[in-house]
Order: sequence, then C-alpha cells, then structure tokens
Amino acid sequence: MAVVGGGIAGLSAATVLAERGVQVTLYERDAQLGGRLAGWQTRLADGSQATMSRGFHAFFRQYYNLRALLCRTDPGLHSLTGLADYPLRHRNGGQDSFARVPRTPPLNALGFIAQSPSFTWRDLGRMNARAALPLLDVAVPQVYEALDGTSATDFLAAIRFPDAAHHLAFEVFSRSFFADPAELSAAELVLMIHIYFLGSSEGLLFDVPREPFPHSLWEPLARHLDGLGVEIRTGTAVGQVRPAGREGMTVVAQAGGEGYDAVVLALDTGGLQSVTAASPDLVSAAWRTRIGALRTAPPFLVSRLWLSQPVAGERPGFLGTSGYDGLDNVSVLDRWEGEAHRWALASGGSVVELHAYAVDPALPRRMVEEGLVNRLREVYPETVDAKIIDARHEWRADCPLFTVGGYQDRPTVRTADCRVVVAGDLVRTGLPVALMERAATSGFLAANALLEGWGARGEALWTVPRKGRLAAGRALAGLGRR
Ligand SMILES: Cc1cc2nc3c(=O)[nH]c(=O)nc-3n(C[C@H](O)[C@H](O)[C@H](O)COP(=O)(O)OP(=O)(O)OC[C@H]3O[C@@H](n4cnc5c(N)ncnc54)[C@H](O)[C@@H]3O)c2cc1C
Repeated sequence: MAVVGGGIAGLSAATVLAERGVQVTLYERDAQLGGRLAGWQTRLADGSQATMSRGFHAFFRQYYNLRALLCRTDPGLHSLTGLADYPLRHRNGGQDSFARVPRTPPLNALGFIAQSPSFTWRDLGRMNARAALPLLDVAVPQVYEALDGTSATDFLAAIRFPDAAHHLAFEVFSRSFFADPAELSAAELVLMIHIYFLGSSEGLLFDVPREPFPHSLWEPLARHLDGLGVEIRTGTAVGQVRPAGREGMTVVAQAGGEGYDAVVLALDTGGLQSVTAASPDLVSAAWRTRIGALRTAPPFLVSRLWLSQPVAGERPGFLGTSGYDGLDNVSVLDRWEGEAHRWALASGGSVVELHAYAVDPALPRRMVEEGLVNRLREVYPETVDAKIIDARHEWRADCPLFTVGGYQDRPTVRTADCRVVVAGDLVRTGLPVALMERAATSGFLAANALLEGWGARGEALWTVPRKGRLAAGRALAGLGRR
C-alpha cells in the first residue's frame, strides 16, 4: 500500500493500515514529516540551535481522532500542555475570553453573552433570531445544503450580529480558515462555531506541544511506524499515480515506478493538483477536473522573532488579535515550549511568533514582515526597546479555501476507483470536523475504506455531536423554516 503525503492525514492513514498488518510505503516530498506542522533545525545569529516550524497550532480538546493518533506513542498525552485561556483583543479596545465561560451547551452561549463586553443581552435582542437559528441547528452534512451558497460575511450581516463581537469572535474564526470571510462558505463558519463552541462541551480551550513538533510528535510516531515495518521515504516527491492493469496502482517518484494494491492520496491542495494533472488515467476525467478547480487560500506569513528582552509577565501564551492591519495572533513561545523557554532563560529574552493570514498577494513581502513587527510593538509596547536577535519569516499558501458554493466539488474519501482514496483537511468527510482534526479523521476514514475492502476491522471514529445540542433551538429552527 502507498500513502502519499506525510502530514497528519497521511500519518493517520499509514498508522491504522500498518497496525492492521498492511505493508505500507509512505512518500513525503519534504525532508521531514508533519506537513503543515513540520519543524526543522536552524542556527540563530547568537550561535544557538533552534527548531523553526510552520507555526503555532492549537490542539483543541475535541480533536478526539488526532489525540487517538498521538496516544499511540504518548498514551497520557504528556507531550501536550494546556493554555489557560483563548483571549481575543480588538485594536479598538474590545476584549473577549473563553476561560470562565461554562462548557456545557446551552450554558456556554449564555455564559459567553453574560461575560462578554462585545456581545451584550441588548445585542441578542437586536439579532434576527430566525436568520440566526442555523447556528443552533447544525447537522452535518445538511448545514452545507442550507448555507454553502452564502458567504460568511452575508450570513453574519443577515443575523445582525453585533459589530464588536463580529470583529472579535467571528473574524478570528473565519480567518483561522486563512480566508477573508467574504470568500468563505457560511456553512464552514457555522460548522466551526458548532464544533468549537455551541455544539461541544470542551469549549475553546486548547493544548500545545511542550517541545517543538518534531520532538513531541513526529519523531516518536515515525519510530512507531518504523516498528510496524512502514517504509518512510522523506525527500521523495510523487510525480504520477496510474492504474496498473485491473489489480493495482503504480506510484512514480524520482527513482521510477513501483506497484501497490492501492494508494492513499494525503496531499495538500497544490500537491494533489500536480499529481492529478500528471496522471491522465487516475480515477476519472470528471474527478480530475474537479480537483483541478480546487482553490487554495491566499498566502500567509508566520514570523518568529528571538527578542533580547522578555515580554511583560502578564502576557498570555496566545492572543488572537483583530483590527491590527493583518496581524491575526501573537504567541509567546517561551511560555510553554521547552526549547524556547530554555533559550529565553539563557539569553534573558523571549521568543514571539506572529501570524498573518489571507495576505494580499500584491503586497511586497518585506513590507508585510516589517508591518507585523510594528503591530507587535503596538500590542505589546514593551517590545519597542527589544532588539531582534534573529527572525525567521515563513511564507506559504498551502491551506484549502472553502469557497462559497464549493462543497459539492470537494473530493470525498472514496473515489470511483476503489484502489484510490483521498485524505486531508481539504476532503469532504460528512462529519463535524475541521482543520487538523479533519486531516486525522479523513486519514482514518481512508484507511478504513481500504480495510473494509479486505473485510478487516477499521479504526473507531469519534466526533462532537453530529447535530446541534440545543433541543429548544432545534425546535425553533424547525418552526422558523415553515
Ligand atoms: C500557520 C498555520 C496555523 C494553523 N493552525 C491550526 C490550528 O491552530 N489548529 C488546527 O486544527 N489547524 C491549524 N492549521 C491547519 C492544519 O495545519 C492543517 O489542517 C493540517 O496540518 C492539514 O494536514 P494534512 O495532512 O491534510 O495536510 P499537510 O500537512 O499539508 O500534508 C500534506 C503533505 O503532502 C506532501 N506532499 C505534497 N505534494 C507531494 C508529492 N507530490 N509527493 C509526496 N508528498 C507530497 C506535503 O509536503 C505535505 O507534507 C494551521 C495551519 C497553518 C499553516
């Protein structure tokens, strides 16, 4: 069996297949595993060694399948540590927090309104209750039938969501999809609110790895896979995948073609498109056309700064920001990551990371990088006097864009050819999962689809409830639709 792509989706599929005794070869284009959570060594200007990565990731507690994957090598998940809060701040002074909001629906929604300065009871009264009901009545995949044709911006305008809260909570949510809310399907936004807030009991609190991604996550998992006999080929891009008679598939990489019973395509959008474009006999012409039409979100920037001075003691490990000219969040790595903490202790400085999503591609990159540093100085003024000992700026554009009306054309795990399955956070799973959890869940689903063909047991899957949990809301939503 070939698994193409060594991000979370590919690693999830390879793990389940190998654990069931399947002989797996895992192809990864880059030099290291992890995909969008990859990390690599870099030497800083002060001579110290650091691990740079693709950037901060929040491991939410409702990521049941991703956690099940990580439990393979770390049953107590000690490599993760919780951050106390998910604070949000708008440049105009608005602030929100989720730490003290009750977790259980419907108390979470009521508790948020009771505590939020940006969303008041009066705002609730002004909202268009009928238009807002889909927020309480999320069922997958029906939410796509109802809302995929509407943009997140239009949906929020229709429900008359208060401006302050719109900017804080919802812009932050939709930008987490790396997209401008005007381009994002309202179904994805509403699903996200269901998963992370209204429809689950874990709330918006999350964990982060105690050490850089390679040490905490991927090196242990690679050892686990190695122990199961998986052949891991990093630095090996797959160029083409083609049927080999009726029985198998040929996977072509630099060293030539090799035969397998089936293939898991666990690629990012660009990778899937280039393999598909070079594989004229893969699945079907209609499928390849749909893959070719998928879109990626605009470029995004992850800037990491090693500063000569600490940030103020009260700064949180992570802060979502809005209204700061494109700065989406600030994380203080030395608050939780061992390696950054050791560097900060030794140098007396701090390690800070800044993210900017959905950057206008026309803007000069240097200008955006400098702009982000200036915004940091505004958000945390104590950094004005700090010297930048070293900096890394990672520009990428490999996140899927969930366009308005695009749901039907996204690939599903199964294809018309039972030898080819697809996994990744771009895949339509029919389950309430997103981002890293969608990658892990689709990887398990892809492995399960292949195992089913051989009558073998697959991996058990868990998700937050597939339907909204507010019974009264559901009843009202039903009335509202009459
Ligand atoms: C800056 C940033 C912050 C994020 N924050 C969060 C967060 O806080 N919470 C969250 O849940 N999600 C977050 N995400 C999203 C998350 O990273 C993704 O949802 C997830 O990693 C996707 O995993 P994947 O396996 O589907 O894809 P990828 O990780 O992209 O894996 C695909 C792999 O395929 C490989 N590949 C491509 N072409 C080929 C080829 N021809 N041959 C072989 N290999 C190939 C690529 O190198 C890559 O390793 C964030 C993403 C970014 C970029």
